[in-house]
Amino acid sequence: MWWSFNKILVATTSGLSGFGEKIKAEQPALSLKERKEAEKPVEVKITVIYDNYSLVEGLETEWGFSCLIEGLEKTILFDTGGRGDLLLENMKKLNINPREIDIVFISHDHWDHTGGLLSFLQENPQVEVWLLDSFSPNLKNEVTRSGAILREIKGPSPVCSGAYSTGTLGDAIKEQSLVIESKEGLVLVTGCAHPGVLDIIRSVKSSSNQDIYLVMGGFHLLDLSPEELQEIADRFKESGVKKVGPSHCSGDLTRELFAQEYKQDLVEVGVGKTISFP
Ligand SMILES: [Zn+2]
Ligand SMILES: [Zn+2]
Repeated sequence: MWWSFNKILVATTSGLSGFGEKIKAEQPALSLKERKEAEKPVEVKITVIYDNYSLVEGLETEWGFSCLIEGLEKTILFDTGGRGDLLLENMKKLNINPREIDIVFISHDHWDHTGGLLSFLQENPQVEVWLLDSFSPNLKNEVTRSGAILREIKGPSPVCSGAYSTGTLGDAIKEQSLVIESKEGLVLVTGCAHPGVLDIIRSVKSSSNQDIYLVMGGFHLLDLSPEELQEIADRFKESGVKKVGPSHCSGDLTRELFAQEYKQDLVEVGVGKTISFP
């Protein structure tokens, strides 16, 4: 509603500008700004909105995950955390306008990733919601009822220029991860990584033939022994993953162990964290 009202307002204003040359002369300033924007080196920015861990005072944490990806052709909200009020509250504190988001990408059908979706759609239904076709009919109906465009996918699919979905991975709990192309290599964002974080990495590497610059999000390694975790960290290194940002359901021990293993290449992920890359 807000959106369409503004569109009408803009259309009306430019329509009126024909009355006087003065208004018209002031208008091109906008296109100059737009041109300047276009000349800026393109940088992708990921902001963590919802997570088990906090990095910035004043932002709430809770079990769940959500992050915003800006700088691509479309602005993407990856997952929505568990609670809508907390998602929107953190967005507000981080100065993120829900109405500027084009796509909501849901990794898997678990409450701690879908819980904030409806509250978000009440703020902005003018989005595409990317789900796997295996998600519950209930969730799909709610998306459709909100007025948002439902995008159901099965296999690997381009989401927008510079980003694609791995498509359905895993058997028991089906999940998709988001892959972003950067000058440094691929950036892989995982929700809970139920299909196995190493399997996801393997799948992305074999389908793209590109190096992975960063893997971040939930790695789902909570109940593993230090030895098992060490083995996983070694495999990360072997597969050429340059930087890691374990968060959400990765576990404290995983974060400690990866910090030792990756040293300055560990990206500490938590609510409020921003990560930029060209
Ligand atoms: Zn999960
Ligand atoms: Zn989760």
